[in-house]
Amino acid sequence: MARVYNFSAGPAVLPEEVLKEAADEMLDYKGTGMSVMEMSHRSKAYQAIIDEAEADLRELMNIPENYKVLFLQGGASQQFAMIPMNLMKNKVADYIVTGQWAKKAYQEAQLYGKANKIASSEDKTFSYIPDCSDLPISEDADYVYICENNTIYGTKFKTLPNTKGKTLVADVSSCFLSEPVDVTKYGVIYGGVQKNIGPAGVVIVIIREDLITEDTLPGTPTMLKYKIHADNGSMYNTPPAYGIYICGKVFKWIKKMGGLTAMKERNEAKAKVLYDFLDSSKLFKGTVRKEDRSLMNVPFVTGNEELDAKFVKEATAAGFVNLKGHRTVGGMRASIYNAMPIEGVQKLVEFMKKFEEENA
Ligand SMILES: *Cc1c(COP(=O)(O)O)cnc(C)c1O
Repeated sequence: MARVYNFSAGPAVLPEEVLKEAADEMLDYKGTGMSVMEMSHRSKAYQAIIDEAEADLRELMNIPENYKVLFLQGGASQQFAMIPMNLMKNKVADYIVTGQWAKKAYQEAQLYGKANKIASSEDKTFSYIPDCSDLPISEDADYVYICENNTIYGTKFKTLPNTKGKTLVADVSSCFLSEPVDVTKYGVIYGGVQKNIGPAGVVIVIIREDLITEDTLPGTPTMLKYKIHADNGSMYNTPPAYGIYICGKVFKWIKKMGGLTAMKERNEAKAKVLYDFLDSSKLFKGTVRKEDRSLMNVPFVTGNEELDAKFVKEATAAGFVNLKGHRTVGGMRASIYNAMPIEGVQKLVEFMKKFEEENA
């Protein structure tokens, strides 16, 4: 068996321990004689799995009592519609557009009401986070929306925007559980789990209870109402049962590693190895303004497309895979999520140094 160093942006690397445990339990989950995949979601064994997953997530993120945790389907993209359908009481919302995912969310919200783009970094290919300390927040805005870590462009909000008292909604798909978070600053925190937590198919929504109401936009499908999922403990219909089980294992792994403070230290140490090299390299350079750099997604270029392609090809052959950058940025991107060990980044940097010498 040969495991590679997988720098995929998502679906992405998971802790090896978790995968091994899941393999061990594949045919017989704790004496039930069946796989979790084959289990009724109404069974006692499954109820224990989802309850424990929620409890562990609440502990990790220190989620207050007045927030619900929902395990839903449809990916992060489904939330682009679900958020306005449930939250747009005045039919007005403000969007900060810092990348493609934020832009898609902004465009989707326009289907349901007045979505205002109150800030953007599109002028420089989303390579920075705009100053959000004094934005023209709409007086009747139902919420202010951000994508907190921009997976494609490699930027991250280091301070949250000043929403002037309005509810903050954040897509944290690619920075979920990467560092401690003050949940009370948000109305909604949500993310697809396939970046930093588990297998594709689960989206986690952490939502303040007062935002969960019957008062959704007319025509909102039952399946897209937060209330129906909240009232039914994420079991209105069959939940993404196996995915939630794996998420639960990842929560336990993070707890064992020391929780979110330890995750942050680990992620900072990892990112430093790569950024320090990029800052000293004559061949490779980062594409993001330094103060806005993400700990999770690190785009870089050589400035020469042919050389970029050669690098990606040789890196792949050497066991560093999925380094090709997003088509809108070009070059390379190393996604170094929680489960990427520091050795993976150190070895990647060694490989980059060697490539630089050979191609000087
Ligand atoms: C990947 C990603 C999405 C889209 O997720 P899907 O689950 O494929 O819909 C949305 N937002 C961010 C920040 C992402 O990284």
